[in-house]
Formats: sequence, structure tokens, C-alpha cells
Amino acid sequence: MDIPIPADPSGMNPSSGDYPRLRLPGGRLFTERANRLRQLAQGHSLGEFLLFSANLADAQQALFDTYPDIPLPDLAFLQRCQEHGMAPLAPAGWALDPSWRPVLARLVAQIQQDPALPPMAQAALRRLAQAPAIGAGTKVTAEPGKVTQTETPSLPLAFEDEGDQEDGDQPLTDAALAAPDWTESQARLILDDDITGLDLATAPFIGAALQVHWTRLAAHLTPDQVAPPADKALCPVCGSPPVAAVIRAGVEDAGLRYLHCALCNSQWHRVRAECSQCGNDRDLGYYHLEGRQDDPVSAEACPACQGYLKICRLDKDHLAEPLADDLASLTLDLLLGEEGFARAGLNLLLWQGTETAEGGQSRFQEML
Ligand SMILES: [Zn+2]
Ligand SMILES: [Zn+2]
Repeated sequence: MDIPIPADPSGMNPSSGDYPRLRLPGGRLFTERANRLRQLAQGHSLGEFLLFSANLADAQQALFDTYPDIPLPDLAFLQRCQEHGMAPLAPAGWALDPSWRPVLARLVAQIQQDPALPPMAQAALRRLAQAPAIGAGTKVTAEPGKVTQTETPSLPLAFEDEGDQEDGDQPLTDAALAAPDWTESQARLILDDDITGLDLATAPFIGAALQVHWTRLAAHLTPDQVAPPADKALCPVCGSPPVAAVIRAGVEDAGLRYLHCALCNSQWHRVRAECSQCGNDRDLGYYHLEGRQDDPVSAEACPACQGYLKICRLDKDHLAEPLADDLASLTLDLLLGEEGFARAGLNLLLWQGTETAEGGQSRFQEML
């Protein structure tokens, strides 16, 4: 159920004036993402990468469909969050349920069956499979304190076969990798958007598992259980930044902008007449690749905060999907980097080597 709220003060609201302020993730989200990635891969210079990402999204959907029961916030906790304008599934306040680790193991197992798996991904998955915490029943205790200790299965034996080591494999004796809480600590870095100490090669797989976990949690909520965000740039459900924005094209929400959460895949309304990050409403710039004005993806850049966020126009292509179209438009990131803007969107399947715009640019150049 969506909650109607007053008309968009930007004036870019549908004539009815009633529209949902929050859209929680749908049950076929990852399949729709996979379909979009395959569509975008056709004739694309990053076609193999996009197809690999599509297979990853398919694996996420399979996990989503069979996800184990997860403890949810109780009503008293939800009520407190509403009263204080807090995101109820914010990772800082919500314990990582141990169920996410066997889900990661299943994700790794499924992805490794991809016959077209790039060598670097093979190496990363092998390293991930060797992390002991993926199969360890680590006790998790944190607010709201409803998580219980469980014993989780190890990865399938097939992934313990060292086989031929690919270039880029790390030594098995790597002290950090061997630490019992390595996977958990990597997950925490991802949830904190902190690349210090983050293993960039395995981060997309851990991020993909966390996406499934949080999307599953968010899908159990109803919009009336979530307060409007205190910080409009962050997801009201989990407090994460967006991966990109969408301009919707439905009957009730045509022309409205929503930000799409990088972690839990919720979408929250944000007026169009101001920067999605800092609220500045002056001199916003809109960037397309040269000669590609009809592309469904553009970038909104703000001179006040020097940040940019991509926008997917569903009125130009109703199949556009924020994460997929973000991955397929890395050339646009190069353009914005050259213009001196820093990327505001967070994509859990794409990690940059440094926190600077310059570092992000070089990373994208490597891929292109
Ligand atoms: Zn979220
Ligand atoms: Zn701004």
C-alpha cells in the first residue's frame, strides 16, 4: 500500500496530486534488472561485463525467491524509528543476520557455474570461497537484538578445489583473508561505503548478497511503517545513498523523480527542481553523451556540491533500470569526471579504487 501525500512543490507533479512517496521493492526486481542488462549488452563495448552482471542478477533473483525467514524489526522499534525520523533498516542499527552468509555461499556457487565467467571473477570467487567466515556460525549481537546464532554450511567442496590459480589470486596464507570475521568485516565496509581495507575484487559479490538480504527485508515492510527521510538524499528505509534516480512514467506518477536505493532497492520521492544531494536549486546542469540526447540516461550535476547523479527516464524507455543503466553508461561518468564533478551514486556491483573523482575516472577508463 502506498501513502498519498500532497502535491509535489516543484510543480512537476501529476494532475491528480496524489502519488506514493515511497515505493518498496517488487518481487521480480532482479529478473527485470537481468533482462535490462542483457538488452543493454547487445552491441555494447562492455557487453561481456553486462552479461556477467545479468547472470549475477539472475542468481540474486533465485536467492530472493528462496530466502530464509529473517528476523524483522518489531513494531515498537518501527514506532521509535517513525517518531525520530530514522530509517528502520539502517545497517548501523540493524544486525547482520547470519543467514546472509550461506546466501553468499549459494550466490558464489551459482555464479561459478557461468561458463563465460571472466578470469578475474573466477579468481575473486575462489578467494571469497576460501574466506572461513563464509561458512562459520559467527554470533551476531546488536540492536534491535533479535538475531540468533546459527551454524551455516560451508561452501560446496567444488569451490575448495584450488585448481589452476589465475593471475590475481592472492596467497591462501593471506592473514587478512584468513581472519574468522573477514567476510563480516568486508560486509561492514560495504555497508559503510568505506573502501579503506575493502577487497575490490570480491566486493561486488558480497554487495550482491547484501542487496538480496536488504531487499528481502524491505519487501516485508509497508510504506506507512517508514517515516519521511530526515536527509532526503538517503533512503528512508535503510539510510543508504541512491544508485541513480528515475523519472517515472506511470499514470499516478508521470514525470516525478524517485531516488533508487543502492542497497534495499526502495524508491523514494525527491522533487526535481533541486539537487538530489544538497538541495541546491540553481544552475543545475544536465549532461548527455554528445549526439545522444534521446538516451534514457543523463546526469544531473550540481555546481554547489560538485556532485552528480544519473537519471533514468522511463518516459524515454520504460525498461530502463537504475543499476543496469548505470553500469551501461560508464562513459557518462568519464564525461562528468572530466567536468570536475564527483559521482554521488553508489553501485554495489562497481567499486572504485579511490574515493576521489580522479581515481574513479581512471577506474572507469580501465574498464572502457
Ligand atoms: Zn534502502
Ligand atoms: Zn548539490
